[in-house]
Amino acid sequence: MKALCWTCGREAPDARTYACPDCGGTLMLDYGDVAGEWKDDSQRGMWKYRRLLPDVPEEHRLYLGEGATPLVPSRRLAKRLNVGELWFKLEGGNPTGSYKDRIAAVGVSRALAAGRGACIGTTSGNAGAAVAAYAAVAGLPYHLFVLEHMAEAKLAQVLAYNAQVRKVRGFGTSPEVGDRVFARLFEAARERDWEVTITAFRYNPYAMEGVKTIAFELAEQLRGAPTSVYAPAGGAGLYVGIWKGFEELRRIGEIGSTPHMTAVQSAGCANIVRAYEAGLRTPAPGASTSRISGLQVPNPPDGGVALDIMARGGGSATAVADEDIWEAQRLLAEEEGLFCEPAAAASVAGLIRASRERGGLPAERAVCVISGVGFKDGQRLADMVAQRTVPLLTADRLGI
Ligand SMILES: *Cc1c(COP(=O)(O)O)cnc(C)c1O
Repeated sequence: MKALCWTCGREAPDARTYACPDCGGTLMLDYGDVAGEWKDDSQRGMWKYRRLLPDVPEEHRLYLGEGATPLVPSRRLAKRLNVGELWFKLEGGNPTGSYKDRIAAVGVSRALAAGRGACIGTTSGNAGAAVAAYAAVAGLPYHLFVLEHMAEAKLAQVLAYNAQVRKVRGFGTSPEVGDRVFARLFEAARERDWEVTITAFRYNPYAMEGVKTIAFELAEQLRGAPTSVYAPAGGAGLYVGIWKGFEELRRIGEIGSTPHMTAVQSAGCANIVRAYEAGLRTPAPGASTSRISGLQVPNPPDGGVALDIMARGGGSATAVADEDIWEAQRLLAEEEGLFCEPAAAASVAGLIRASRERGGLPAERAVCVISGVGFKDGQRLADMVAQRTVPLLTADRLGI
């Protein structure tokens, strides 16, 4: 396995380098030709794909029940939207409630194997909870810098796993503060030999390898590739990771072609969509006005790689309004019995938009990635049901 720079193609000299030492580009792991079987059925969860993951000795492979998530068929929306086949990949079934567990499982296992003394990162929401859980079971401290105004429920989950959380004034709003936090974080990691666990290929291409196991599972569950995959995009690591998984399966001859990958952003933070539509290879700047937690990423770290993938014919990007995302979340709950957080429902909002624009998608075998569980966003849940009234009755008048 080699770490190759996505931009200049050069190989990174050692596994402690997270970005290209020559040009600063994003590193991507290359496994060459995997000889023999790519699966190892003796391993649990995602570790059955260990031959296509960073090498971690068996005793350091952390397992909390991540991966092997369900793929369920649509019973109602597919008909309503005239989609040939529609499947939901339920990532909310992971241990901390989102697909970020796949990244944390690989990243923290690798930190353990490398003898690192701690993990350090930013990210406030689901990534923080995921890394905190795996750091807890690894017995490693986890130092986390978060936004000054982080959502209380997400902060509570991180604290429940006993992460060392520090809020930073102006982090998330001031670019200067952001730059200084990142600079200090990487410096501290180098000085003390800590693992940087930020969930983007740009910052830790090794941990991010966990994401591609979604593609591996889909190919197994569907006995082949879908024709299209809809994934929410904030920093775009989820998008890039799933694409990389299908691309590796294509290279080893497991599937004939990769699916069309659609990145779905909130219109309030559509930096990748704007660049895609303008034919650019770097995300278009602009502050985020989106209210969807997880999709508010004004400067998506993996946006450039995602745009390259699209330019090579691997997919496209589409924007949907926050209201359409909430509507998709409601439809999933009321029509399919699936309760997810708003960011996860963005994939379905993107599919709804595509099927309306093209008058149905009868030839598609589509997968929507439902990236996180509904309980993650308590405020949105309260808003979702605020209009509902519950009558209080007496036992002699139950009205039924
Ligand atoms: C992190 C996250 C996303 C966005 O993933 P990116 O890799 O930042 O594009 C979407 N949905 C959920 C539930 C997430 O936790």
